[in-house]
Amino acid sequence: NLSEKLDKALHVLKGHGQITEINVAETTKEVRRALLDADVNFKIAKEFTNKVKEKALGSDVLTTLQPGQLMVKIVKDELTALMGGETEGINLSGKPTIVLMSGLQGSGKTTFSGKLANFLKNKKSKNPLLVACDVYRPAAIDQLHVVGGQINVEVYSDKENNDPVAIAQAGIVQAKANGNDVVIIDTAGRLAVDEKMMAEISNIHKAIEPQETLFVVDAMTGQDAVNTAKAFNDILNFDGVILTKLDGDTRGGAAISIKSVVDKPIKFIGTGEKMEAIDVFHPSRMAERILGMGDVISLVERAQEQFDEEEARKIQKKIAKNKFGFDDFLKQIQQIKKMGNIKDLMGMIPGAGKALKGLDIDDDAFKHIEAIIHSMTPSERSTPSSLNASRKKRIAKGSGRNIQEVNQLLKQFDQMSKMMKMMQGGGGKKMMQMMGN
Ligand code: GDP
Ligand code: MG
Repeated sequence: NLSEKLDKALHVLKGHGQITEINVAETTKEVRRALLDADVNFKIAKEFTNKVKEKALGSDVLTTLQPGQLMVKIVKDELTALMGGETEGINLSGKPTIVLMSGLQGSGKTTFSGKLANFLKNKKSKNPLLVACDVYRPAAIDQLHVVGGQINVEVYSDKENNDPVAIAQAGIVQAKANGNDVVIIDTAGRLAVDEKMMAEISNIHKAIEPQETLFVVDAMTGQDAVNTAKAFNDILNFDGVILTKLDGDTRGGAAISIKSVVDKPIKFIGTGEKMEAIDVFHPSRMAERILGMGDVISLVERAQEQFDEEEARKIQKKIAKNKFGFDDFLKQIQQIKKMGNIKDLMGMIPGAGKALKGLDIDDDAFKHIEAIIHSMTPSERSTPSSLNASRKKRIAKGSGRNIQEVNQLLKQFDQMSKMMKMMQGGGGKKMMQMMGN
């Protein structure tokens, strides 16, 4: 994927103590190839790498002590600028605010409608109403009701009515009557851009005059995503882009190209199927992520949200005092499980994406770990250093796992404790500074 490719490209530089003009040229060529492979539009990729090259050669990259780092910074800054610089919020000024979803079938409109409603409810203290305007499949209406049920948000639908414009308008009337301050209109999409769909979404758009018209696009569709974005933008002049399915091995290229082609901000990203898998789009974080450094800040934020703060404080104290034990680890596993898809989260940790590649990580993986920890005595849990060979053997037997697995867990635990200590101390601060927060 793009991250790996760029990683490789930048690796050329990272190892070098000195950068020559040839190195810069070689690296930018690699970066360009990586971007092209990720379906970034040719012209954009070329412009991008030219700019990077110019900056690298123009700056003191050739004389600096750590040219690799400076080069990474240049690439990162340019990538950030390319994706829009500042984070763009959502306009909530309407009374009620009307949000219209648009996009192809399967892009994630219905799922995102739910995620957005949930986000606005929890983060902005809004009282949203979801409106089901996909009249072609009864299942689509049911799907929105399921989503609404999951997040405890009301859904307006009318199976007797097959006019999406009328449904949207009736939904807004109900929202006004019931005091909903945001109305999220979920619409029907088709598998490809066609006139009928465009006419329909355009009619809804004209009739309800939304504050926010959002174009939802599957990030996995690469260059096609750009063409679709252009077609929808020509008709709707939409306000923002929602990039879904940015979990797993999704290419990052779409984010770069779409922004350049339609010149509209990417507002949110979807990173999984669950209602919590939504993040505000941060160009600089996305650049970091594309560069393979992981989305540390998002991870920290998501963790903060889910972790009981009191618990977190206790754990921090323990880490500081070197008293972090397996009981705490067990608690963290429970928390992590609450946070959603493990793979999504792992992918956000710098380096972990690579380290865990090929490993099948799912909630089940924790069962074995939990079994091992449960077979430890309380004192063993709080003092992992006491685990000698005979104790390990007993634990392996007790948990039904083998000794290698026990050893592996101990090693992982040790590494994790070290990492957490680092994140808490100067290392974490440094890391945040590096992210250009
Ligand atoms: P719609 O046709 O545009 O309404 O798309 P849906 O909301 O029904 O989503 C289509 C499929 O994509 C469903 O199976 C969703 O669960 C899935 N999906 C939506 N958003 C995401 C995402 O961010 N990540 C992943 N992995 N799947 C998603
Ligand atoms: Mg749908």
